[in-house]
Amino acid sequence: MNQDIKKLISQMTLEEKAGLCSGADFWRTKAVERLGIPAIMMTDGPHGLRKQEGESDHLGINKSVQATCFPSAAGLACSWDKEIVGKVGVALGEECQAENVSIILGPGANIKRSPLCGRNFEYFSEDPFLSSNMAGSFIKAVQSQGIGTSLKHFAVNNQEQRRMSISADLDERTLRELYLASFEKAVKDGEPWTVMCAYNKVNGEYCSENKKLLTDILREEWGYKGFVVSDWGAVNERDLGLSAGLDLEMPTSNGVGDNKIIEAVKSGKLDEATLDKAVENILNIVFKAIDNKKENAVYSKEEHHKVAREVARECMVLLKNEDNILPLKDVESVAVIGALAKNPRYQGGGSSHINPTKVDDIYEEFENLASNTKLTYSQGYNLDDDYIDETLISEAKERAKNSKAAVIFAGLPDRYESEGFDRKHLRIPENQIRLIEAVAEVQSNIVVVLSNGAPIEMPWIGKVKGVLEGYLGGQALGGAIADLVFGKANPCGKLAETFPKKLCHNPSYLNFPGNDETVEYNEGIFVGYRHYDTRDVEPLFPFGHGLSYTNFEYSDLKLDKKEIKDTETISVSVKVKNIGDMAGKEIVQLYVKDVESTMPRPEKELKGFEKVFLEPGEEKVITFTLCKRAFAYYNVQIKDWHVETGEFEIMVGKSSREIILKENVHVESTVTIKKLLTINSTFGDLMAHPVGAEIMKAMAPASAESNEAGEALGAGYQEMFMGTPFRNAIAMSNGAFTEEMLQGILQQVNGSN
Ligand code: BGC
Repeated sequence: MNQDIKKLISQMTLEEKAGLCSGADFWRTKAVERLGIPAIMMTDGPHGLRKQEGESDHLGINKSVQATCFPSAAGLACSWDKEIVGKVGVALGEECQAENVSIILGPGANIKRSPLCGRNFEYFSEDPFLSSNMAGSFIKAVQSQGIGTSLKHFAVNNQEQRRMSISADLDERTLRELYLASFEKAVKDGEPWTVMCAYNKVNGEYCSENKKLLTDILREEWGYKGFVVSDWGAVNERDLGLSAGLDLEMPTSNGVGDNKIIEAVKSGKLDEATLDKAVENILNIVFKAIDNKKENAVYSKEEHHKVAREVARECMVLLKNEDNILPLKDVESVAVIGALAKNPRYQGGGSSHINPTKVDDIYEEFENLASNTKLTYSQGYNLDDDYIDETLISEAKERAKNSKAAVIFAGLPDRYESEGFDRKHLRIPENQIRLIEAVAEVQSNIVVVLSNGAPIEMPWIGKVKGVLEGYLGGQALGGAIADLVFGKANPCGKLAETFPKKLCHNPSYLNFPGNDETVEYNEGIFVGYRHYDTRDVEPLFPFGHGLSYTNFEYSDLKLDKKEIKDTETISVSVKVKNIGDMAGKEIVQLYVKDVESTMPRPEKELKGFEKVFLEPGEEKVITFTLCKRAFAYYNVQIKDWHVETGEFEIMVGKSSREIILKENVHVESTVTIKKLLTINSTFGDLMAHPVGAEIMKAMAPASAESNEAGEALGAGYQEMFMGTPFRNAIAMSNGAFTEEMLQGILQQVNGSN
């Protein structure tokens, strides 16, 4: 359809244009029949399609059509694999085509600031580089099928508590380096058809009315071309939102929003051109969706279930494997324990809740793969409460005692974690903890398989030999777990977030979830491993950690240059070899550290990763290309990314805490930041300035007397002097140094900039 959209808009009445800026119902845009403008449907998302045909809601309550449930983003990110994320995206696109849905509402790219956020299962990572890469790949794959995405929740929506009104208060550098960076690359690389603004406020302003976010940064800085949609019910004042860059209000406003827009245009408060621009943004996507509609599209539920199994396998993380307890090969008997084995938790609660096409029975999948192993099942605990049922525990203990190994299924029940509320602690239910401890009294070969959307504390970690983190593995989790436990596949996921030993070690601990009005992001840029590694707080499992049934050796770290300008790129290569006897995949991680900086900077930051498949004995060379952004921090004075000239360490490793190889590169900045000195700048600032230093040298004899006195005071004197404001020269000189002289010097120094 080749539409002249501008011409169409010129034919629309004010009422029609205002009407188009809010939904027709819960999931559809409005049609304007007289002008041949069709309606399109958008629905949740993100790890499966939630298309409601009957009663609608945004809480995942009413039933939706059947769709494949893939691992949610928390797990998906642990694949660190753009291809795997791509497979999910393509499958989702196919299901949307088959169900006549034009836009799927996802992915979510919010940073995991605290492990308590109830919605962390829907987000990728605590690290913006990993998160934005995963989100970008997801977007590209879905959209390759002619289906749009909605990158959400833009921005700084990192908790569920008072999510519709809280103000997330943070400094500009933190905003840019973490919370926006997690969206930025996804917008630039993925070019999502739509971006969904978050419910909350940022520094006191609703995201839905935030011109800085929705227009200045998203459109003008990042070049975004699609439309901005409100989160469901996120609109505060509709006309203010429109002016700020919020194009579409969802769901329907029942005419309220439309009338506000009409009145604002009529009263001159809102320029009609602003409305026309919003309509144009919406119509561009509406017609794009119609153009990309594939008639009579179908998909195979069986095939997509297979994809879900493959993906789940790639996402699960082998956290611990003492004595190589896993894989369980040729084990005579295994006690399978835990209600979660029969009633698996494979997805999270809320708007992303999917009605799966089928769900693997974990126990049955175990039976299929372990035909020579005698399996028994015992429930171990109730999922509906935390009550410690000693009868269930004794039964499990008995079975474990009479088996060669026990596999305990544990994790968070639905009631512990969901959209809409945050967790209060990181523990799993008491009855599960008690079960693990009790089984450990009679069986030393224990593997715990976890189902949870976010980190948990593991006070029992020393009592078990193996831990497989399954996250919320989607509908085919059972098959995937069986494949990994019995060695049909090799675990290859790595954590996309830190598991702290205790909740109180998390940097946001004292400032989460804030008070009734605001939450202060006082930890600044030190989120996740940026905090644990810089402050040397030992985590339970570090960011990037994940074991394999084989081993990998790293060698030959090479940089193609020893020195670069910040306008140039550097190529980094490393050799990785599979030195074990099973084929496997390794996730190689590259971190950068600014060795010496005048700014507070994290101990290291992830700037590259690659997942590589290697047969036993095989080796491959991996190459990364780094550009300015890999070395830069966000400088608030120049409102841009900036590199401080100096040495940078390039580290390649298996996790943020297991760095194997390091090399240094010198990066030269091509940007000089003008620093204007004032009367309150210090002597040190003056000395750091080339012209200032000359002047100081010339003045030195005058201060010889005080220097002598200072020397008597010892080495600290120099530091004290350098920290003294320049204006104090007047008082310190007994009238010899005047106000005029001071201003003259400042003029000389600042004029030379
Ligand atoms: C959620 C969104 C979701 C929307 C529609 C909101 O409550 O925050 O993520 O896409 O509902 O269900």
